[in-house]
Amino acid sequence: MTTATAPAPYQSYVYAYPHKTAYRQRPDRPLLSELWADEPKDALSLYLHIPFCEVRCGFCNLFTRIGAPDGLTGAYLDALERQAGAVREALGEREPVRFATAAFGGGTPTFLTAAELTRLCDIAEHRMGADLRAVPLSVEASPATATADRLAVLAERGATRLSLGVQSFDDTEARAAVRPQRRADVEAALGRVRDARIPVLNIDLIYGIDGQTEHSWLRSLDAALAWRPEELYLYPLYIRPLTGLGRRAVGADPEWDEQRLRLYRAGRDHLLAHGYEQRSMRMFRRADAPAEGADDYACQTDGMIGLGCGARSYTAGLHYSFDYAVGMHEIRHIIDDYVTRSAADFAHAAYGYPMTGDEPRRRHLLQSLLQADGLPVADYRARFGGRTPDGDFPAELARFVELGWLESGPVLRLTPEGLAHSDALGPELFSPAVRAAMAAYERK
Ligand code: SF4
Repeated sequence: MTTATAPAPYQSYVYAYPHKTAYRQRPDRPLLSELWADEPKDALSLYLHIPFCEVRCGFCNLFTRIGAPDGLTGAYLDALERQAGAVREALGEREPVRFATAAFGGGTPTFLTAAELTRLCDIAEHRMGADLRAVPLSVEASPATATADRLAVLAERGATRLSLGVQSFDDTEARAAVRPQRRADVEAALGRVRDARIPVLNIDLIYGIDGQTEHSWLRSLDAALAWRPEELYLYPLYIRPLTGLGRRAVGADPEWDEQRLRLYRAGRDHLLAHGYEQRSMRMFRRADAPAEGADDYACQTDGMIGLGCGARSYTAGLHYSFDYAVGMHEIRHIIDDYVTRSAADFAHAAYGYPMTGDEPRRRHLLQSLLQADGLPVADYRARFGGRTPDGDFPAELARFVELGWLESGPVLRLTPEGLAHSDALGPELFSPAVRAAMAAYERK
């Protein structure tokens, strides 16, 4: 019999650990060349962040601003190029540097014009040395900016995955999520993506929108399925402080939790019945989709180079980035500051969180558990000198088993209910120090 009390299901989306709200200014401003000196550099991930969008969706707390005054995107790319030069230099020439995956995210990378996207690819290739045509390259886009000329550039430069933020095929729901768009424009954008022949199309959808019913949710899913996307991400709606929808304050709302759980289960079952496999709470992949090469999503490994304002970088010892904000005024200020930085400035880490003590083990456990494939205990042992997850985190894991969320054994794997509760389970694995830092973070 289960005696443990389950936390509410929607605490937070744990896509990276620790969260950026735990990062703090590094008074020592460590040199990147020192941080990277002993890191393996033969299979790095490269991420380029473009913090511009045409609109600010009501649910979004990503690091992005609405529009760009004249010249700002050009100045931003100039800064990105200076940063790329400084980072590449810090990686050194002693051993070969190779990127195994690349991604352009944001914001909306396709907010940039076709010519600017060409420049962005040039920065990744010529400044960083990433061979974009030889590795998986994932790019995010919005329907309005997924124009034929931009998609042609991306396809030609080697994009293997295009992720389109649709959110809903229902115009009223899209408006309720403060993402005003017309279905006809979304369909036209999907047609252009398919015409561009980028191998993997991902469609993002959201459930839990005001007025959304199981019927309208399944209609949106069917509209997406008509394009036979290789991937689908189903996101529960969150209302977060300082976002458009956040102005409508929301406390605990068990009814809304129930609605989201119900829609999640309906969506999951619908996709499973239509030939998709579940990879995590949010991610579904068509079973007959082409193999994806290196796995972008199981990034438990270190070695990430993030370029651009808002991008994170990971070494084994430090996760670092720039200052972080959600409020529009602060974001603008941080971007304006970024574009004035010199190459010498970019040679240092400014904000970060040190990955000491049990943090690397927590991160590995957390990010593996949240994948449907789970965590082979043998992998954990091999990686952490014979230690075991049960030995390191006995109370947390016992609680998950008691809640019916986790199956123990040679592979620690979430049950279907565990996957459904990923956003409650993830935060339970945060260390006390990370929790304290997140709680002390002053939202801006
Ligand atoms: S959800 Fe995407 S398109 Fe909307 S504001 Fe956020 S980053 Fe921009």
